[in-house]
Amino acid sequence: VIDLRLASQPEKTRVVLELTEKTQQKVFTLENPTRVVIDLPATTLVAKLPSGNGVVKNLRAAKRDNGDLRVVLDVSQAVVPNVIWLAAETGHRLLVDLPLGGTTSAPNNPSLNKEMPATPVAVPVAPAVATSSAAVMVATPPAVKSVLGLGAARDLIIAIDAGHGGEDPGAIGRRGTQEKHVTLAIAKLLKQRIDAEPGMRAILTRDGDHFVPLRERTQRARQQQADMFVSIHADAVANAGPSGSSVYTLSSKRATSEAARYLADRENAADLVGGVSLDDKSGVLASVLLDLTQGASMSASMDAAGHMIKQLDRIGNVHNIQVQQAGFMVLTSPDIPSILVETAFISNPAEELRLKDPRHQARIADALLTGVRDYFYSNSPPGTRVAQLRLNQQAGNLPLSP
Ligand SMILES: [Zn+2]
Repeated sequence: VIDLRLASQPEKTRVVLELTEKTQQKVFTLENPTRVVIDLPATTLVAKLPSGNGVVKNLRAAKRDNGDLRVVLDVSQAVVPNVIWLAAETGHRLLVDLPLGGTTSAPNNPSLNKEMPATPVAVPVAPAVATSSAAVMVATPPAVKSVLGLGAARDLIIAIDAGHGGEDPGAIGRRGTQEKHVTLAIAKLLKQRIDAEPGMRAILTRDGDHFVPLRERTQRARQQQADMFVSIHADAVANAGPSGSSVYTLSSKRATSEAARYLADRENAADLVGGVSLDDKSGVLASVLLDLTQGASMSASMDAAGHMIKQLDRIGNVHNIQVQQAGFMVLTSPDIPSILVETAFISNPAEELRLKDPRHQARIADALLTGVRDYFYSNSPPGTRVAQLRLNQQAGNLPLSP
């Protein structure tokens, strides 16, 4: 284990372990006091243990006589852990999610209750989710989280991806304006606006001038269980003439090749269909499940992109009023509706000036926020605060008298 960290979210606490090799984990809970135990055979801890966070009050780790590494988490309430393996750039990533609010992420598993035996028992966590409801869940990815996270309404999470960064400046305008600075400025303004919206929360895939690989960007969004991914860019062509905004979603050709790539890597794919493991599915079933997920995300992306281009059209000119489709790598998450916005042409001197202007950056951020809001108020995933707000709104709009 080369890294161990905790991330606290409103509906769960996530334990992230980075391992150089995959191992057969055992995760189980013990009572009096309530603890979560992670046993990893033939494993050594070289990472420093973080301090408590979220539901985890305290952590400790010890090497057992049989060579196992045992990590014990003292938790402040009873939890039902949910385990996910991911392929990470540095090796393998083990996620142990501890959902809050006494709800279970695997309600159909009879072995997951408070009467846990005091003797360690391996909890078959990941496959437990693969019940008959799997097909329904993957067909409507935004609903997955509400199925899994019964309980208090959750915030929508919007991942904002400022294009380029660090040694990758992106496109450069005639006056020397670098795309990476413009995209970060707009991303930050958009984050402020989303965070100020009730029921929404934004995360940035980068918050400074540093290089982040493309796959890492989509991975960061997935780790945070983003409901939408918005990548911000500025276009450039050799000719100074072209101007205006364009909005892209993933092309179906790239989607097909990406699905093939994911299916070749089942560990990765398991995470895409709401934690349903594809390991034990036939190739055909796995590809059907992935297809459903991807199809739902792509139509959601088109829909949301349509809302955004409409808003961009109101603040300036658009290059293409139609949503465009292309094979951009950052749009390839099969389970997260993903949109790439070319805000303007940095290669056009007039637009380069505007892109540098904080007032225009704010207008772009306003337009994107309105697009995001319009989309989610017409397609609010059940179990979210926005879905509740929308219901209240509709109730408020009912005529008072016949
Ligand atoms: Zn770019």
